Amino acid sequence: MKVIVIIPAAGLGTRMAPMPSAMDAKTKRPHPSKQFNELAGIPILIHTLRKFAAVEAVSEIWIALRESEIQGFRERLAKDAADVLKKKVELVAGGEHRQQSVEHALNAVSAAADDVVLVHDAVRPLVTAEIIHEVIEAAKKHGAALAALPAVDTVKQVERTAEGAIVKATIPRAGVVLAQTPQGFHYSVIKKAFDEAAADGFMGTDEASLVERSGHEVVVVMGSPRNIKITNPGDMELAEFYLSRR
Ligand code: C5P
Repeated sequence: MKVIVIIPAAGLGTRMAPMPSAMDAKTKRPHPSKQFNELAGIPILIHTLRKFAAVEAVSEIWIALRESEIQGFRERLAKDAADVLKKKVELVAGGEHRQQSVEHALNAVSAAADDVVLVHDAVRPLVTAEIIHEVIEAAKKHGAALAALPAVDTVKQVERTAEGAIVKATIPRAGVVLAQTPQGFHYSVIKKAFDEAAADGFMGTDEASLVERSGHEVVVVMGSPRNIKITNPGDMELAEFYLSRR
């Protein structure tokens, strides 16, 4: 049984740099996508890859990148991340949306029905080996699993209007978890879910939402509040802080 990791890393990160095509005033080059922003001098994506490369059970890592970033990243890996290249690493072109980036990688892998496919956001570099192991084990056993956190804030359902959001209902917090990645599935389960979503034109914000609609139960394992998704500029400071405490 193989464990194949897919890392979607083809996002523009528009919340980090409001105009991704704009020039960086300091370097006079286009703003890098957020997964290439550096934490302690190392691109976020390489921090993330190291977490998976260090897990013995992982056999191969597929990274979906913007076409224009593939060659540069291949060179950077060879120069600075020989530890990651101990695994089989493949770079594929991503798509316009996260789901398409994952789909491109999924269509390129060669796997048996009960191999495990893990999908993890490039921009969650603080994931731990424990979480990765737990998602792999739960995916092996149940066919579909994700890391998530209980909600600590009260959750409101809202309607968005021109005047702002209006609360429509309060969703009992005990029945809510906040999904993180990794999310792990038997290859047969995730492939069927993606094929059905493509046929129906369904777009989800994570892999589990596709698997849920294909009728397969998804099991939750405990994530971590530190497993943040670097989205806004302030998240970089928090990630630097957590890294410095390791
Ligand atoms: O943009 P968002 O926060 O949803 O990004 C989550 C992950 O999906 C990031 O790692 C990002 O690089 C990736 N992504 C992608 N292809 C896209 C959009 C996002 O691989 N077209």
